Amino acid sequence: MISIAIDGPAGAGKSTLAKALASKLGYIYIDTGAMYRTVALWYIRKGIDTKDRDAMLPRLNDFVIDVRNIDGVQHMFLDGEDVNGLIRTPEVSMGASNVAVVPEVRLKLVEIQRQLASRNDVIMDGRDIGTYVLPNAQLKIFLSATPEARARRRFLENTAKGIETPFEEVLADMIARDKQDTERAFAPLKAAEDAVMLDNTTMTVEETIVYITGLLEKIG
Ligand code: C5P
Repeated sequence: MISIAIDGPAGAGKSTLAKALASKLGYIYIDTGAMYRTVALWYIRKGIDTKDRDAMLPRLNDFVIDVRNIDGVQHMFLDGEDVNGLIRTPEVSMGASNVAVVPEVRLKLVEIQRQLASRNDVIMDGRDIGTYVLPNAQLKIFLSATPEARARRRFLENTAKGIETPFEEVLADMIARDKQDTERAFAPLKAAEDAVMLDNTTMTVEETIVYITGLLEKIG
């Protein structure tokens, strides 16, 4: 099986790149952030503070997370309910970063991620894919851009979806999430030593895709 790992901070364009490469190569795209978001949604619905590890741990086996590919699109199921439409809010974004600090949460999700990669050719995006989840991935990419560029992209995406969070708030949330993701002790956001580093601050989505596709052709 072949695995491509794409890591980087929020808003770097990982999912857009991963989806484009997956459809080009015929691989399955796996969005691991959606898994952390689904866990956060469960705790938020239960009224459990996503920063309170002691309150979270005893409930870790009380819900079932399932990843299904429907017509080429990843859908997250939480106890049998399709929650794709509910996991992109700012509250769930921050909650995901909070639950992602807890090693037991990570281990539960990493098991699902590794199983998917053992059965399919995958392009997986996240924060720790090249360093922890799939250290033997055939290609690792670390995608980044300045916080302002990433927040601007997220702000425009939000506006298109009718979400009206002010730019300053999008930027502040993103910086807070990146800080927590980078500084956590277990499997933090970090480039693998053998990752291809790409800062796409001044590149369009298309330029990023063309660059990485060129790289893939070179390595065969
Ligand atoms: O990628 P996305 O922004 O949807 O991820 C939401 C949160 O999930 C991140 O801020 C991060 O805390 C966490 N995450 C993680 N490891 C991954 C993917 C996401 O810790 N592999």
